[in-house]
Amino acid sequence: MAQASNQELTDRFIQFYRNYYRDEIGQLAQQYPNEKRSLYIDYDDLYQFDADLAEDYRSQPDQLQEYAEEALRLYDLPADVKLGNAHVRLRNLPESVDIRGIRVHDNHIGKLVAVQGIVRKATDVRPKITDSAFECQRCGTMNYIPQQDGEFQEPHECQGCERQGPFRINFDQSEFIDAQKIRVQESPEGLRGGETPQSIDMNVEDDITGKVTPGDHVTAVGVLHIEQMSEGNEKSSLFDLYMDGVSITVEDEEFEDMDIEQADIETIITLSNEDDIYDQMVGSVAPAIYGYEEEKLAMILQLFSGVTKNLPDGSRIRGDLHMLLIGDPGTGKSQMLSYIENIAPRSVYTSGKGSSSAGLTAAAVQDDFGDGQQWTLEAGALVLADKGIAAVDELDKMASDDRSAMHEALEQQKISISKAGINATLKSRCSLLGAANPKYGRFDQYEPIGEQIDLEPALISRFDLIFTVTDQPDPEHDGKLADHILKTNYAGELNTQRDRIATSEFTQQQVDDVTEEVAPEIDAELLRKYVAHAKRSCFPTMTDEAKATIREFYVDLRSKGADEDAPIPVTARKLEALVRLAEASARVRLSDTVEAEDADRSVDIVRSCLQDIGVD
Ligand code: ADP
Ligand code: MG
Repeated sequence: MAQASNQELTDRFIQFYRNYYRDEIGQLAQQYPNEKRSLYIDYDDLYQFDADLAEDYRSQPDQLQEYAEEALRLYDLPADVKLGNAHVRLRNLPESVDIRGIRVHDNHIGKLVAVQGIVRKATDVRPKITDSAFECQRCGTMNYIPQQDGEFQEPHECQGCERQGPFRINFDQSEFIDAQKIRVQESPEGLRGGETPQSIDMNVEDDITGKVTPGDHVTAVGVLHIEQMSEGNEKSSLFDLYMDGVSITVEDEEFEDMDIEQADIETIITLSNEDDIYDQMVGSVAPAIYGYEEEKLAMILQLFSGVTKNLPDGSRIRGDLHMLLIGDPGTGKSQMLSYIENIAPRSVYTSGKGSSSAGLTAAAVQDDFGDGQQWTLEAGALVLADKGIAAVDELDKMASDDRSAMHEALEQQKISISKAGINATLKSRCSLLGAANPKYGRFDQYEPIGEQIDLEPALISRFDLIFTVTDQPDPEHDGKLADHILKTNYAGELNTQRDRIATSEFTQQQVDDVTEEVAPEIDAELLRKYVAHAKRSCFPTMTDEAKATIREFYVDLRSKGADEDAPIPVTARKLEALVRLAEASARVRLSDTVEAEDADRSVDIVRSCLQDIGVD
């Protein structure tokens, strides 16, 4: 640190406030302490004023914070105003550190850092004692003991009568502060290829408590600390990382959306005008999996999704498409699902069995995170996938709590939790791509397929599309599948043995043939940009032809589906599904209008799904 005395540093901050934050401090003084208790300062402002001071703030935040707050108390204000316990909160650091990248040798510990991510868990806000007043029950003397984090300190003996109590805490004379613990997890879009997201815990106090809900995307600034771990009474040589929160900014949900360069946009527009764009799209989904053209097309439409409508009466119709693959084991469902992570701008892949207590939706739990006593609200997969795709394998195995919360999550796209003083609404504006096995593990060919789907009707009706996959022997299909899988495995072999290829044990032609077979037609990175661009800029509306096509199909379907023992009742939800699929189809072409061809594509998919289940 610069060779400045404490006094000089405090004066420096006063000077800084005079130049940059005169108005803000005036407002703070008016609203302190009830409405406002913090002065927020922008790192850039401090840096502009004095680069050394700003850098010192980052490297020795605890000391500098004290001077900054002392300066606030000494700042000249009208005589009757005192900013006794006001905080200084620094925000907008120039860069943030990767949560998974926090390492000892990077010298982050004890420093002020910013992390970006999604709030995974948050405890309820509870008062924490910071200065406790112990009243001696024998002589009435008040003994004051400041409390740090960790073990609660009690007086050894009374300062008045020197006896060992008993003492009682006097609440009026003690000081309390609101406290909350939150867990920030890496955002889904930052992860590649099924990495487990890492997280960091953060303690926040006073006016920044209760400001975030699990599922919020945030940038959090705080001081990184380490804490010794222990098992029972044994201290461990390992330490845990945590942060003391200084400021939390809730970001727009799309803040991490990729930057798409003009050159990319031009490539995307060219692609969107090609005649075989739908085939190219299908060829870009899980190329290692043979067949399933319809399912793959549906996955593409799901990626692009329909247009969300906000109606004048305040209600909302989702644009997101939910689809389910249900079928015999070993038919490539899991493989298809996990491929979504490569091509979706934002996605979460998980299993219905779930590994976290929050499961697929959300949960309020009393666990170690909040001292075992405090309640914690935790976001599940559908919340973490907000504005993206939640790929949920083994959906039929989901917990019963999830089943009921799922109805609201899928249709209203929010999850309400009301339990033990926690009342919260979490957003789940995602598309669900589910996979499940039939009731008996595999389809029984003597029973109608519709009756072998082991999910309740209310849940089933929320899926826009349900694909059934049966694994029946078929020599021609099996032969082609075998060729494909053998080639794919061979391609893996080729990849791991590039060196040998170079020495030409394989001809270049062989290499090209195989690589072509398993490479996606549109590069995955480009496809992610394509999808993001379309969803950002394209909001197609229906032409009359498209409307007529969908209307006709729906009316016809209703008249057939009215049959009492129809396996899946056809409701108005199907109509919305048809519209969404047609809109998604238009988005693939970046078209502003939904044409008859889009409506036809939508009708074809829906008809084929219904036929599989036995509606025809
Ligand atoms: P499921 O989840 O349906 O039980 P998996 O996705 O785990 O099945 O697939 C099992 C294996 O079979 C995987 O290695 C997968 O690659 C392979 N497989 C199944 N169907 C196909 C297919 N149509 N094309 C290529 N590989 C397939
Ligand atoms: Mg599976």
